[in-house]
Amino acid sequence: MEYFLTCPSPCNYEIKVEANSDDEAVEKIMQAGAAHKNEAHSDMKISEEQMRSMVRSNMKKAGCACMAKKNP
Ligand SMILES: [Zn+2]
Repeated sequence: MEYFLTCPSPCNYEIKVEANSDDEAVEKIMQAGAAHKNEAHSDMKISEEQMRSMVRSNMKKAGCACMAKKNP
């Protein structure tokens, strides 16, 4: 399954990972997000725990109805 996380505005960078479960997706997005955060948001003060709960509440599953509008 594919999972997406869109970085909060005004960045709107999209992180996309392939995972078999929500937990796995959170871990993968955390890893991918860490690299992006260092590049784009090096001054952002957020703990790993805050980042994890942000990822968990904001990530979206591909194929879910919430993504349908994004597909042309
Ligand atoms: Zn960003």
